[in-house]
Amino acid sequence: MRETDWTKVLGWPGYRVYQHEINEPTKRLKLWVRRKRGNRKLVCSGWGRKLADAYDTYEREVRDLPCFEFRTTVVVELYRVRCPDCGVKTEKVPQLPSKAPFRKRFEEAVGLACESAAVRRVARQFGLVPSTVRALDLRYLKRWAGGRRKPALRQMGVDEIYLGKRQKFLTVVSNLQTGEPLWFGAERKKETLDEFFQKELSAFQRSAIQAACLDMWEPFRQSLEEWLPECRIVYDKFHILQHAAKAVDEVRRAEFFRKGGAARELVKGKRWLLLSSWVHLDRRKRQQLNALFALNRRILKAYLLKESLGQLWNYTYEGAMLRYLQSWIDQLRWQRLKPMEKLARMLLDHLEGILNYCRMKVPLGVIEAVNGNIKALLRRGRGYRDMTYLLLKAQRLAATKTEFLVLQKAA
Ligand SMILES: [Zn+2]
Repeated sequence: MRETDWTKVLGWPGYRVYQHEINEPTKRLKLWVRRKRGNRKLVCSGWGRKLADAYDTYEREVRDLPCFEFRTTVVVELYRVRCPDCGVKTEKVPQLPSKAPFRKRFEEAVGLACESAAVRRVARQFGLVPSTVRALDLRYLKRWAGGRRKPALRQMGVDEIYLGKRQKFLTVVSNLQTGEPLWFGAERKKETLDEFFQKELSAFQRSAIQAACLDMWEPFRQSLEEWLPECRIVYDKFHILQHAAKAVDEVRRAEFFRKGGAARELVKGKRWLLLSSWVHLDRRKRQQLNALFALNRRILKAYLLKESLGQLWNYTYEGAMLRYLQSWIDQLRWQRLKPMEKLARMLLDHLEGILNYCRMKVPLGVIEAVNGNIKALLRRGRGYRDMTYLLLKAQRLAATKTEFLVLQKAA
């Protein structure tokens, strides 16, 4: 193969291969490239000034995509320029996006691989160490984020994710219309959300937000009231049903301690069954639950209440929604289900925000999907110390897997 053929195979615009070396035992290919004749336009890497003359030359060796079984590196001849703005500076080369020893398309291949596989696996696949893969992926994501326009924020979601004993909570702000996380904040205080409004949005951007979907968490409500007095708060269905599931679990636990013997055995291990929705259970699991209900009417009642609460969001008229909620609360009378009564009080305390669902249509299930995506990333990555990286990762996931979101909405 002649050097002109290598030039064609390599494909480095404006450059030609002038030397190559094949090491068969180690399966390595090395190509030396320099500018083609006539390609003499130099750009300073500082502020992008165009220059005609070179100051001196130097060489850089970078990894490129493998050629069949051969790990390929390219030694590229580069120029330095004497720039009126910056002094002596390296030239800007589109194929070399960073100081790291990789060609752009190699970084893109690694970044793309990171979208569907864990860092460790990608590292093994490309023969890199995990820390290099992470740094590379971060650059890839930053380039992607830098090159796109962000849609306006009109409906926002606020949620929190529990990270663990040490880091505690992560506050997640998302765009409900695009299903994309926008910002992460440490902890879940009023100050956390204040920081988002203050640092991330202009007064104009804040005024464009019409609705905010969130959990019944007082600090977030206070922050919203202060920063977006015009914005409608809509309490999220997913979170309210989570509170209902928690109440069922409290009933279950109380019964577990009250009863002994066989009944106790039956209650044991039914936690997840009780938290699941009836429509999501198969026949065998429904039978298991029915056996439990036959023995304990109290748990049955709590479970039915949890299941029927979800229908509250089938109503589109305030009056009808309110009537349904009232009849739901009426069913609690004489039942002595303390956790359910507590939930009812909580719903009444947040009535405006629940009824706002009828006044302001917000997509349901988006917060849940965003939350789920981030949790999936955390599970896969194990220990994101860099929250910027996690955020970019989650944004990219939302942008590439929009069909996942649509499915969630339809469900
Ligand atoms: Zn310059």
